[in-house]
Amino acid sequence: MKRIFDRIYKKDTNSFYNLLKNNLKTDKKMFIVTANPETIMISEKDEEMKKMLLDDNVTLVPDGIGIVKAAKMINCDIKERITGIDIANKILDYGDELNKSIYLFGSKQEVIDSMKEVLNSKYPNLVIAGSSNGYEKNKDEIFDKIVEVKPDIILVALGIPLQEKLIYKHLDKFDKGIFVGVGGSFDVISGHKKRAPKFFIKLNLEWLYRILKEPKRIKRFYNSNIKFLIKIKKEM
Ligand code: UDP
Repeated sequence: MKRIFDRIYKKDTNSFYNLLKNNLKTDKKMFIVTANPETIMISEKDEEMKKMLLDDNVTLVPDGIGIVKAAKMINCDIKERITGIDIANKILDYGDELNKSIYLFGSKQEVIDSMKEVLNSKYPNLVIAGSSNGYEKNKDEIFDKIVEVKPDIILVALGIPLQEKLIYKHLDKFDKGIFVGVGGSFDVISGHKKRAPKFFIKLNLEWLYRILKEPKRIKRFYNSNIKFLIKIKKEM
């Protein structure tokens, strides 16, 4: 687990955004994995996931306060959380500013439709190169389609770990592209779901808000975050 923590991005959020913008500007391929306790717990049992998190071609950023707190416990200097939704919003800003193209893959069709409306009105210079909802059976075929389109940005909203595994599987076929697995971000950006109020975000309690809104998340939270902290304590 320590080896994975060593690979997580250590500088502040602004430095990360500069790196992201620069890569987008220069067409440098980049695969961002927003690592949270769930990602790390999955990698404990799943070799493919572990290989991905240790791969130098993958940029790991600390998502979730659990990662930042755990890092402190094992004397690893991680500054602050950099969340998937914040990265998604920044990419849309930069994509618009730099006249880039984007492919949206994942979430329900009605969410994708609203996403397109939001993008067209808020980010007029960002070209929507294509989109596919996340409920088509053959997701590999969708990636073959994305390869042909050659978009500059590829956001995949299928949830952990499916989104990361799919990107990783097909990454070699692309010469450029900023790839990010963004979980439920399309639901929020499209306006179908609300992000936690600022108060929760500031106090690092976004996870609590999501559980209060969707109580069925509590099992997932226990299996990832609580077991993760217990494991970190044991490893100290
Ligand atoms: N999703 C999908 N296809 C599936 C399963 C899920 O497109 O087969 C989408 C779902 O509609 C949602 C996203 O994946 O938009 C996952 O959201 P969730 O909030 O669970 O992700 P998290 O942010 O918690 O990782």
